[in-house]
Amino acid sequence: MSRQTLTTDVVIIGAGIGGLWLHHRLNNMGFHSLLLESNMIGNAQTLSSQGIIHGGSKYALNGILSKASQAISSMPSRWKDCLTGEGEIDLSLVNVLAYHQLLWSKEQLSSKMVSFFASKALSSRMQTVANEEDRPDLFRHPDFKGALYQLDEPVLDIPSVLKSLAQPWQDRILKISSDAPITWKQKQGMVTAIHLDDEIEIQAQHFVLTAGEGNENLLQSLGVNKPVMQRRPLQMVLCKAKNKQLALPAIYAHSLGSGSKPIATITSHYTEDGNVVWYIGGNIAEQGVGKTGQQLTTEATDLLHDILPWFELPELEWATHKVNRAEPKQSALSRPDTAFVESRNNIHIAWPTKLALAPDLADRVIMQLQKENLQAGQHKTVASLPSAVIGKPLWDKAFQ
Ligand SMILES: Cc1cc2nc3c(=O)[nH]c(=O)nc-3n(C[C@H](O)[C@H](O)[C@H](O)COP(=O)(O)OP(=O)(O)OC[C@H]3O[C@@H](n4cnc5c(N)ncnc54)[C@H](O)[C@@H]3O)c2cc1C
Repeated sequence: MSRQTLTTDVVIIGAGIGGLWLHHRLNNMGFHSLLLESNMIGNAQTLSSQGIIHGGSKYALNGILSKASQAISSMPSRWKDCLTGEGEIDLSLVNVLAYHQLLWSKEQLSSKMVSFFASKALSSRMQTVANEEDRPDLFRHPDFKGALYQLDEPVLDIPSVLKSLAQPWQDRILKISSDAPITWKQKQGMVTAIHLDDEIEIQAQHFVLTAGEGNENLLQSLGVNKPVMQRRPLQMVLCKAKNKQLALPAIYAHSLGSGSKPIATITSHYTEDGNVVWYIGGNIAEQGVGKTGQQLTTEATDLLHDILPWFELPELEWATHKVNRAEPKQSALSRPDTAFVESRNNIHIAWPTKLALAPDLADRVIMQLQKENLQAGQHKTVASLPSAVIGKPLWDKAFQ
């Protein structure tokens, strides 16, 4: 069979949030970019995320306000501009689950902690919710005697984010086979094209790897051993009321223990049939790796009783979800708080490291491509590969 040749300006491999944001921006700028996905759009980390547009407050709680955490602090306002239709990408149709997250402790905070929260470093990021009428129902209970703060960080419904990012350029987001690995055509250290299934050749000026965990195999297939990737495994916990008439209240909140590090983060998500799922991350998910689902749900039940002692839980159905975070290898002490991009000639290896940092990833790649004088060419529509579709939300598949 003769090989079909396609051309584009930039090939992006992997349609999670990193690849989608970049793809959308490049095409909006008048370049032609093809985004290749071997599974479903968002199906790996992105649709497993809690949808929090972090501004770094969680890290500032540890008292460490690094330059990097200052970089992430601009992300909520950047996303908010997009949500109002005034930013670099129109996300005005995205479903905003919450405009603020909460942070609560079931007991009053120590005076040291109160003054730390009121300090200059934190007061612009979080405000105490003093008035009862400003509190969600769950925290209006007379037995709740603890502290409640509001963080200026929105929580988004990720399937609707994916839809807004993918739809305008859907015909340039292509489903490729997951069985046949991509192979590379190289000349003098530059990649000139990729081959799919030996049937299709795609030529481009630049190639960007945004395949999350899949970047590792792609780098191997290129014979490149740096940057090194690391995985951070998690086992997340999900629960919902068995009877949806008694659905859990929707909350978006970090629970603060005796230390400054949140012990659990709960976000709420709606199933197709209108029930509410609590999606629980934080320490419990980090420490849940290697535990059986039964062990972890028993621990999660105890945890909910402990952090919300005044709240009578309805009868619950439970599920757990194993997933790896993929990012460049870090030293044990540092956390990635900016997007990561490393270029090797015309190959650019990228991890956003957080969903919230997808705009930062796109900035960094675009800056690099412009430095290398990316040109907008004329390219034909691709009819020979199907469009990739968006993966199913976790809330509608985890309990099956
Ligand atoms: C449980 C959990 C909760 C999180 N919560 C938050 C949060 O609330 N806020 C936040 O900011 N961040 C959060 N994160 C981090 C965030 O989800 C990730 O940093 C981000 O989604 C990574 O996006 P990505 O595009 O790099 O990768 P992914 O979303 O993993 O996407 C990679 C894509 O590449 C595809 N792919 C892989 N190999 C190939 C190949 N060879 N060819 C073609 N396609 C390929 C995959 O199928 C996938 O679709 C969370 C992460 C986890 C795991």
